[in-house]
Amino acid sequence: MSGSKIELHLHLEGAAPPAFIRGIAAEKHVDLSGIFDAQGHYAYDDFDGFLRVYEAATSVLRTPRDYARLLAEVLECSVGQGVIYTELFISPEFCGGADLAAWRDHLAAMTEVAERARGQGIDSRAVLTAIRHMGPDRARQTAICAAETALDAGGGWVTGFGMGGAETVGQATDFHWAFDCAREAGLGLTCHGGEWGGPDSIRQALALGCTRIGHGISAIHDPALMRDLADRQITLELCPGSNIALGLCRDWAAHPIAQLVDAGVRVTVSTDDPPFFHTTMRHEYQRLADAFGWGLDEFNRINKWALDAAFCDSETRERLRKEFA
Ligand SMILES: [Zn+2]
Repeated sequence: MSGSKIELHLHLEGAAPPAFIRGIAAEKHVDLSGIFDAQGHYAYDDFDGFLRVYEAATSVLRTPRDYARLLAEVLECSVGQGVIYTELFISPEFCGGADLAAWRDHLAAMTEVAERARGQGIDSRAVLTAIRHMGPDRARQTAICAAETALDAGGGWVTGFGMGGAETVGQATDFHWAFDCAREAGLGLTCHGGEWGGPDSIRQALALGCTRIGHGISAIHDPALMRDLADRQITLELCPGSNIALGLCRDWAAHPIAQLVDAGVRVTVSTDDPPFFHTTMRHEYQRLADAFGWGLDEFNRINKWALDAAFCDSETRERLRKEFA
């Protein structure tokens, strides 16, 4: 399956190729051999193991230059997958502990890379992401970083705010202040919900003013919620390969993506943390084609939904839309 693709849900550190992380670790004389298997892939058994490996891998990324190199690597991988527009989830917590000055330094280094990549055929935007299990006070700091570097202030690259992390810790609605702050700064809002949590976790994300939901697959158990999502044209950032790798869905045929589309819910397809889940955008499209018989019409439709929901300016949106006519 080839063709252009729009990706809305990609965690920057989660997209780091193992070889790239090994290279940085070697330069810094950090021993990370325990997190890789014999083939050099990330190795873990369950969700807790995934979090441990993820944390160890990302612990070698410490400076603005590290992040600039990572972004260049990740965008190059995305170009190779036919992605022409991507939104990266980036946490200022990892880029200098959510300190505004440190975040500005990281952002400046990454913005330069993003501008260069535009000339190589990929547009990108940053969605600054609070980490839920760190609590509402830390989320405030991230929201302040986001608001202060929103839109033009950050070279136009920071256009969204979201929340990831352990979804079953606390209530999403505890984070009202952070989401209000980001919305007032003109940022688009998304939040992880309905991945590990039930339909109520999606309702809470909607109560925060989100127009997109990260995952949202548990909506399938709640017909009234599905109708609401369809009526309000809320877009689900689905990551089927991630759900299967983490055991939330048995296999591709059991993933609710096609049922959600049939119920009128707008869905998109992304890879979440691709090397951790042994997936790529081409792999996702191929498996969906195999499982549901999807072809160009279906993929064009989800890519147009993705563009409608993208946190970008209308000029970019309309230019990219021509790819999916
Ligand atoms: Zn995610």
